[in-house]
Amino acid sequence: MAQKRRKLYEGKAKILYKDKGNHIVQYFKDDATAFNAKKRTTLRGKGIINNLVSAKLMDNLISIGIDNHFIRRLSWREQLIHHLQMMPLEIVVRNIATGSLTKRLGINEGERLARPLIEFYLKNDSLNDPIVSEEHILCFEWASPQDIDDMTSIALRVNDFLCGLFSAISITLVDFKIEFGHMFDEKGRDRLMIGDEITPDTCRFWDTHDKTRLDKDRFRLDLDNPLSGYQEIARRLGVLPPGVLEGTSENQISSLENQPSP
Ligand code: UDP
Repeated sequence: MAQKRRKLYEGKAKILYKDKGNHIVQYFKDDATAFNAKKRTTLRGKGIINNLVSAKLMDNLISIGIDNHFIRRLSWREQLIHHLQMMPLEIVVRNIATGSLTKRLGINEGERLARPLIEFYLKNDSLNDPIVSEEHILCFEWASPQDIDDMTSIALRVNDFLCGLFSAISITLVDFKIEFGHMFDEKGRDRLMIGDEITPDTCRFWDTHDKTRLDKDRFRLDLDNPLSGYQEIARRLGVLPPGVLEGTSENQISSLENQPSP
């Protein structure tokens, strides 16, 4: 089905296809990359889990009034979304120090921050997505002052909401990345909204009790069975029915994809 549509863009983990009007089909692949695509593999079933997880989280955000691109899930790997004019920025929110923050500033790994920390990065693979200040964003007109204010307050609301949602299933939201874009509706109004995805590829999730990594760090750090964390997140969120995708053999995945998605 997906092959018949016009491909607009293929990224590291997703493909976007043109649909009717201002709608796009977002297709989640099994490819995993880290360290600016220097490390690559295929995690069979990852695209299915990310599609289910992002659909649930975006849908929950809509229900509390946080605008995003999600319209509805179409299949195991596809969702219908609004076409946004994306800003060339990644907004990272951190609750606990890890990853590039510990390396850049020498903060202790695992230290809880005194308040959620918001950072902006420029999306540019050839520059390794450098961190940028609000001054850089304004000077080079990557976003307006209003966009910066709105992205900051929305990112904090998303953080509050997701921290609560995950803490109820014994998962600590350590940090995450979101991206924003503008949607111009039929009346020509401009709405800022979250695009891209919210998944274990773009968030760090630790089991609250034993600190097990349940996200892409399993792959970045060469931990055992990288997909197991994604499966655990999906299962605790209730988006993977019991028994589904417990294995990742080729047969299990292709037979799943031949069944209608829930
Ligand atoms: N992140 C992301 N895409 C990127 C860079 C970071 O989704 O291109 C997410 C990452 O999964 C983590 C958060 O943003 O949840 C902070 O990542 P960090 O800056 O620590 O970078 P990393 O250690 O991943 O290089």
